[in-house]
Amino acid sequence: MNSQEAIEKKVNAKMNHEPAYQTGRLDSLFKPKSIAIIGASSKELSIGNVILKNLLHYGYTGKIYPINPKEPEIRGVKAYPTIFDVPDDIDLAHVIIPSKFVPQIIEDCGKKGIKSVIINSAGFSENGEEGVALQEAFLAKAKEYGVRIFGPNCQGIINCDPEYNAYCDFTFTFPKPGAVSIVALSGGVGAFIMQSLFDLEIGMRYYASNGNACDVSISDVVKYYGDDDGTKAIILYTEGFHDPKEFMEVAKIVAKKKPILAMKSGRTEEGAKAAASHTGSLAGVDIATELIFEKTGILSFNNEEEMCQAAMAFSTQPIPKGNRVGIITNTGGPAVIATDELVSAGLQLPPLSERAKNILKETQLPEATIGNPIDVVATGGGKHFRSALDVLMDEETIDSVFINFVTAPFTDTDEVARNIVEVNNMKRKPIICNFMTNMSLERFQVTAKILKDGGVPCYSFPTTAAKALGALYKFHKVSSRNIGDAKIFKIDKAKADKIIESVSPLRGDGSGAFLSSDKVYNLLSAYGIPVADWRLVDSVDDAMKAANEIGFPVVIKADSEKLVHKSDEGGVKINIKNSDEVKKVVEEMKSKFNASDLKFFIQKFLPGGRELIAGVSAQRGLEPLIMFGLGGIYVEVLKDVVFKLSPVTELEANEMLSSIKAKKLLDGARGEKGIHKQSVVEIIQRISQLVNDFPQIHEMDLNPIMAFEDKAFVVDARIKI
Ligand code: ADP
Ligand code: MG
Repeated sequence: MNSQEAIEKKVNAKMNHEPAYQTGRLDSLFKPKSIAIIGASSKELSIGNVILKNLLHYGYTGKIYPINPKEPEIRGVKAYPTIFDVPDDIDLAHVIIPSKFVPQIIEDCGKKGIKSVIINSAGFSENGEEGVALQEAFLAKAKEYGVRIFGPNCQGIINCDPEYNAYCDFTFTFPKPGAVSIVALSGGVGAFIMQSLFDLEIGMRYYASNGNACDVSISDVVKYYGDDDGTKAIILYTEGFHDPKEFMEVAKIVAKKKPILAMKSGRTEEGAKAAASHTGSLAGVDIATELIFEKTGILSFNNEEEMCQAAMAFSTQPIPKGNRVGIITNTGGPAVIATDELVSAGLQLPPLSERAKNILKETQLPEATIGNPIDVVATGGGKHFRSALDVLMDEETIDSVFINFVTAPFTDTDEVARNIVEVNNMKRKPIICNFMTNMSLERFQVTAKILKDGGVPCYSFPTTAAKALGALYKFHKVSSRNIGDAKIFKIDKAKADKIIESVSPLRGDGSGAFLSSDKVYNLLSAYGIPVADWRLVDSVDDAMKAANEIGFPVVIKADSEKLVHKSDEGGVKINIKNSDEVKKVVEEMKSKFNASDLKFFIQKFLPGGRELIAGVSAQRGLEPLIMFGLGGIYVEVLKDVVFKLSPVTELEANEMLSSIKAKKLLDGARGEKGIHKQSVVEIIQRISQLVNDFPQIHEMDLNPIMAFEDKAFVVDARIKI
C-alpha cells in the first residue's frame, strides 16, 4: 500500500464520533482523577516504566494503577493483574502493549467504564495493511463503548496545573505551570518545543501530542484549549489535517479569542515527502495549510525558535491596539537594529507630543535624547526609565513599548528592573525588553530574575525582541481583520446546470474531462464573467462568416482536446485582418493538426492589454483554491501568483491583486496605463462563486485575462471536471 492509500484508509478509519468538544468530553483525558497504566513495567528504560516514573516525579495528584499480570508492585505502587481487579473507577488508561492485543484491551476498557485511552503503542495505520486493520478493529470497540482514543503511536498529554500535575507522557521535560498550551501531531517536535519553552522559562499549561490522531483530533484539542481560561496562547505544530474543514470551523472561533501560533513543516517537496512517510499525514497540501492559517487568523511561523520566542510575549503581555511603538533605550546602536526590524514588521515610531517632551525634559538627564526613541543614556537609572515608561504609557499615540536595556556597570540595574516591572504589572500596554548583559555575573542574574519574575519578556538580541513585538502586533491585525462575506452575484444558474450536466464527469481511467470550448465560454458567460466575442466553427466558410460577424481583426485558435498549450504548437494566429487570411489560416491548421475533433475557435483580437491569470484548483476535503497572478505564456517561468481559499470575498480579492510581486504593473509603469482593478476583482469573486456552486470543477485556468484601463476579458480558458 502506498502512503496515499494509507492516508485514505486512515481518514476513512476515523471515527464518526460526535464532536469531542461538546461540554467537557475531553476532561477525562486532560483532567484525569485516576490513571491505569496497562503495560506498566518494572524494566527501567521501558515506556511502561517511564510513564509511571514521570507521573510520580511530576507529583500527579490522582490515583495510579499499574496493570501487570506478573508484578505485585512497580516503583512502589501497588500493581493489578488486570483493570478488572482495580477496585475503583478509572478515568484514563495508558495502553503500552503490542498492537495485536489492543482491540481486546479497548473492549476491556469499555467494559470497565474507562472514558479515555492514550495508546502509546505503535504498529497501526503508519504500518501498512495489517496495522490499518488493527486500528479499525479497536476503533470499532471504542465506538461501541464510547471510549475516546488519543493516539495511537503517540506520546500523550501533560496537564501542568498543580491541581493535577498529570504527566501522562514519556518525555523528559518537566515544565513549570503557565499559560501556553501545545498541541503537536509529531511528538518529536512537540517535545523540543516544550523544552524550548522551558529553557526560555515560559510556563506551560497543557501539552498534547496525538500521533496517528485516529479519534481525538488536533481540532478537538485546539477547541479544548480555546475553552480553557488558563490557556493564554496556543502553539500548534502539524504536518497537515485529516479534516481541514472541521479544523477551520474550530480555529476560526478559537483564534478570535486567543492567539494560535502555528508551524507547518513540509514546505519543500522533500519535506512533504518526509511527512508522508512519517505519520502518513496529509502531505502535499502545504500551500492549503498556509491558506487555512491565513483564513482562520492563525499566526504562522516558518521558524520554530521565533515561534517560541513569540510565545513568551503572548504568555505575559496584552495585545497592542495598533502599530505605534515607543522605544526607550540606554544605548544607541541596538535601538537602530530594533527599529529596522520593527518597521519591517509594520510598526511605526510616532513623534512624541509636546506634553510628553516637556515632562521628559524635566525628568531626564541633560544628555538624554528626547524623542522616539527616548535615549535615557547609559548613566540613566531607575527613575529615568520610570519617567520614560510613564510618559509612553500616557501617550495616546503609542500602543506598545520596546525597551533596550544594557546593564551598565555604573548604574543600579536592579532599580531599573524594578521600575520596569512595576509599570509592566499595570498591564496598560505591551512591553518587550531587549536585555543585554553578561549572565555569568551574579549581579546581573539578579537583575534578570527581577525582570523575569515580574513577567517582562526579555530577549538577548534586538532583532529577536523586535520580532516578538511584531508577532503581538500581527495578532492584533489578524484578529481585527474582517474579510466580510463572499458576494453572491446574480447569475444564470439554470444555464450553468445544463452545461455541467452535459459533461460526463469521469473517464474510465479516472482522469477528469475537459469541457469543450463552447461549453467553457458559455459557462463563464452564465456567471457574468466577460469573455472576448467568439464563435466555434468547423469549416472554412463558417470561419469566414464568424470573423465577419465578430468584426476584424480576429484571432483563430485550433480547438482540440489534445491541444493544451495551443500557441506552443502553432495553434494560435493573432491579428487576422480579412477573410482571405482567415481562409489561409484555417486551411493551414487543417493540414497541420489532423485531430478528429478539430474545430476552429474564432475570437475577437484584443491587443494591448495586461495579461493576467486566474484559476482554480480543487483540494480534497477542503474548499477549492483560487489563484491570481501575472498571466500569459510566461506564467510558468515567473510564477508570480497568489492563492486564497474560496469563497473569496471582495477584500480578499483586492488583497490578491496587491500581493503579487508585479503589483505595480497593475497601476501602470513608464507611460503604460494601469488596469481596471475592479473588473478583475469581480472576475475573481465570480469564479469563486462558480466553483463553490459546482464542486465538480476540478481545475480551471483563465489564462490570459486581458485587462485594460476600463475593463477585462477572458481570452483563453480551460475547465476540467
Ligand atoms: P495557449 O495558452 O493555449 O497557448 P492562448 O489562447 O492563451 O493559447 O493564446 C496565447 C497568447 O496569444 C495569449 O497569451 C495572448 O498573448 C495571445 N492571445 C490569444 N488570444 C488573444 C486575443 N483574443 N486577443 C489578443 N491576444 C490574444
Ligand atoms: Mg493561454
